[in-house]
Amino acid sequence: MHIGRSFDGPGHVEATCPCPLAPCGLVDTDDVDEACEQHPPTRCKTIRTGHPADACPGTGRAVVVAMGKTEAAHQAVIDAAAMGESAGTVNFSLFGALDDYRAAVEHEAAERIREDSWSRRDRWGRYENEQREAGQCHGADLIDPEVP
Ligand SMILES: [Zn+2]
Ligand SMILES: [Zn+2]
Repeated sequence: MHIGRSFDGPGHVEATCPCPLAPCGLVDTDDVDEACEQHPPTRCKTIRTGHPADACPGTGRAVVVAMGKTEAAHQAVIDAAAMGESAGTVNFSLFGALDDYRAAVEHEAAERIREDSWSRRDRWGRYENEQREAGQCHGADLIDPEVP
C-alpha cells in the first residue's frame, strides 16, 4: 500500500517526514522509516489516502520533494528569526509575511511565463502556434490562478 495522511493525496506530512517516497509521493507501507512519527503502523495515525502499490499512478513524487524543500526553507527563516530565543517568541506576523512573499514570488513567475507567451503574438494579436501558447498559459495558471 502507498499511504498518506491527507485526504487528497500526498501533503505536508509526506513532504517533511523521513520516509522514502513512492513514485506517487505517498509512503510505501513496506518501506517506512521507523523514526517517522507519522507512517509506521505502530504509530497508529489516521491514514486518509492510499492505493495498492500495483495501482500506483507513478507520478507526483517530484512535487512532494519540492514541497519538502519549500517547507525546509520556510522553517530556516523562522529559525533564523528566533535565533537565541525559544520558537514561541517569533513575531506572529512573520508567518503571514512569509505567505505573502511566497504568493508574490509565484505571481511573478506566472507573469514571466504569460509575458513570454504574449511577446510572441503578431501585430494582429495572433500566435504562430496557438496550442503551444495555450499550454504555456495553462502552466502559468497552475502556478498562479489569480489572473488580474
Ligand atoms: Zn513518514
Ligand atoms: Zn503510489
